[in-house]
Amino acid sequence: MKFYMQVLIALGLGLKRNWHIFAGLILGVFVGIWLHESQNHAVLMTLTFIGQVFIRLIQMIVIPLVISAIVIGITSVGDSKQIGKLGTKMILYYGIITAAAVSIGAILALVFQPGLGAAHLINSDIAGDIQAHVAATIEAQRGNLLNIILGFIPKNPLASIASGDMVPIIVFALMFSVALAKVGEINRPFVSFFESIFAATMKITDWIMCFAAPGVFALTAVAVSSFGLDIFASISKYLGVLAIGFAIQFFVVYPIFLKVFSKVPVLMLYAAMAEAMMVAFGTASSSATLPLTIACCEKRGISHKVSSFVLPLGATLNMDGTAMLQVVAVIFLAQAYGVVLSPFLIVQIALLAIVASSTCAGIPGAGLITIALVLNGLGLSPEQLVAGFAFLFTIERITDMMRTLLNVTSDAVVAAAIADNENEINYDLLNNPEEYGDIIS
Ligand code: ASP
Repeated sequence: MKFYMQVLIALGLGLKRNWHIFAGLILGVFVGIWLHESQNHAVLMTLTFIGQVFIRLIQMIVIPLVISAIVIGITSVGDSKQIGKLGTKMILYYGIITAAAVSIGAILALVFQPGLGAAHLINSDIAGDIQAHVAATIEAQRGNLLNIILGFIPKNPLASIASGDMVPIIVFALMFSVALAKVGEINRPFVSFFESIFAATMKITDWIMCFAAPGVFALTAVAVSSFGLDIFASISKYLGVLAIGFAIQFFVVYPIFLKVFSKVPVLMLYAAMAEAMMVAFGTASSSATLPLTIACCEKRGISHKVSSFVLPLGATLNMDGTAMLQVVAVIFLAQAYGVVLSPFLIVQIALLAIVASSTCAGIPGAGLITIALVLNGLGLSPEQLVAGFAFLFTIERITDMMRTLLNVTSDAVVAAAIADNENEINYDLLNNPEEYGDIIS
């Protein structure tokens, strides 16, 4: 074998797994650009298959993992006062982070005005089938907030499990776990049962992560191939505002948040979460990334008690990246259509985005469905709504990847802050990346 090949292989084997995933991600971008140009069907099909295998493998363990994590987390907290205290702090922290995201999104969109003069972009080149799909989605969401909230309470928990509805599953798991905690020692066999399930699902996560680099590579390539680079030129202002907003949230808001509410070193936390962040970007799904988010947190110093309580809830409730996108997108459309943005309307958009983002599932594209809740308040004509929505739809995937990365990172940021406040963090582990290595044990 040629010497340089030997060096490359040695480098590949010697590098930590997160570098493999990172390489897969970068390579995925280039292959995706090539695929967009060449439209090579066979390669596209193969990569789609590989990506789907990876996503399905992680999706397979999400439900047993979430239920067992919540049961163990809450029963280990024990008394209901403590659970209440932890829950209140979690909601407060998630609220602060999401409020910061919508404020930054609104300020940036109002200052840079990406939608001014953009009406022609919205009305051009939208395929009829997308229009039809979009019209149905908007109709389904109209005035639907109460129904959405009602849907959080499962009529039949087993049916929710079978159909994979995360929020009702979590609501049931929470109630059930609090009840288990209340009944005392008699809960032992049941809790041990869930401890076994949790340990086994974590083991499966380890195995699946061996497949993360090719999985993230394939998912990224397929996603990039669907839009190519030409789209960036025409809507660069909109994407630019979003990218700045996401960057401020990631590089400024989270570090300030951690500084104010804890003593967690942000760089160490980001290093610990690197694999989860990249998988979030590749899969565009907080729920699918959840096994990894939990594994990264727990193996790198954040206690099980905190991470198993805070992270599953965060993966469905805390969507600060999604909320920011919704605010920027809605203000963009309002500007494009010449809607007067009164301070009252802006506050309404921001508040609705907080609600709409937290009702959205942690799956690809969910944020663009619940955005209809925010859009409906704008007073646009049905045709404008459909065209505007369809425009967002055509550039959905790239913004989804970015906002999901934020959604997952902020879950970990809040979990780390709470763990710090509760003395549930092992700093010796978190501050020494050479100690913790890969999440593969
Ligand atoms: N894909 C996002 C997530 O899973 C939700 C969304 O904004 O569509 O976190």
